[in-house]
Amino acid sequence: MRVVLLGPPGAGKGTQAQIIAGRMSVPAISTGDIFRANVSGRTELGRQAKAYMDAGDLVPDEITVAMVTDRLAEPDAKAGFLLDGFPRTIAQAEQLRDSLAELGHQLDRCLELVVDEDELVRRLSGRRMLVDGEWVQRDDDKPETVRHRLEVYREQTAPLSGFYRQAGLLSQIDAIGEIDEVTDRALTALGFTDDGAAGAPAAS
Ligand code: AMP
Repeated sequence: MRVVLLGPPGAGKGTQAQIIAGRMSVPAISTGDIFRANVSGRTELGRQAKAYMDAGDLVPDEITVAMVTDRLAEPDAKAGFLLDGFPRTIAQAEQLRDSLAELGHQLDRCLELVVDEDELVRRLSGRRMLVDGEWVQRDDDKPETVRHRLEVYREQTAPLSGFYRQAGLLSQIDAIGEIDEVTDRALTALGFTDDGAAGAPAAS
């Protein structure tokens, strides 16, 4: 199964992506995680991405799309994947559709996690990551950057909901609640039954 997880920063995409991908037996591919690993590893890609990330802006499409195309060509992604944080613009979504078509594949579903903005600001400002045994705040989770990231989401990424709805691929779920509850909604929307088999996806 080839799935895109859509939702604003703080909607719980990273957490849900790990759990759902495990249940689907496909890799969870997070562009944010790949960028962060490159920034910590001081690679050329990390150097190019860092300034955009620190400002809460999107890394330009040409850098991001090339990185994702390479990642999707790896053997573990051949039979399916769950994308977390990509696409984030209509142009990226079109590129994804075209590169999959070249390989004779297509996306099966876009699952959107819906959370209202007040809840997002609350979650992001309190979020901490475990790095080398210490809980730290991501630079881009600082209040002024959070506001900008939400604006960027509204302007550049939210239109993807309509894009995937038109393609007949969109399922939306309420992503407020306990992690387990949200996972259950997600798996139901993706048509996964308790025995782990995929059935017909539920309409949004
Ligand atoms: P995330 O962990 O998904 O919130 O991503 C953190 C940051 O990485 C974003 O604020 C962007 O600067 C960058 N990023 C991640 N995914 C993308 C993407 N698909 N397109 C452009 N920039 C991205």
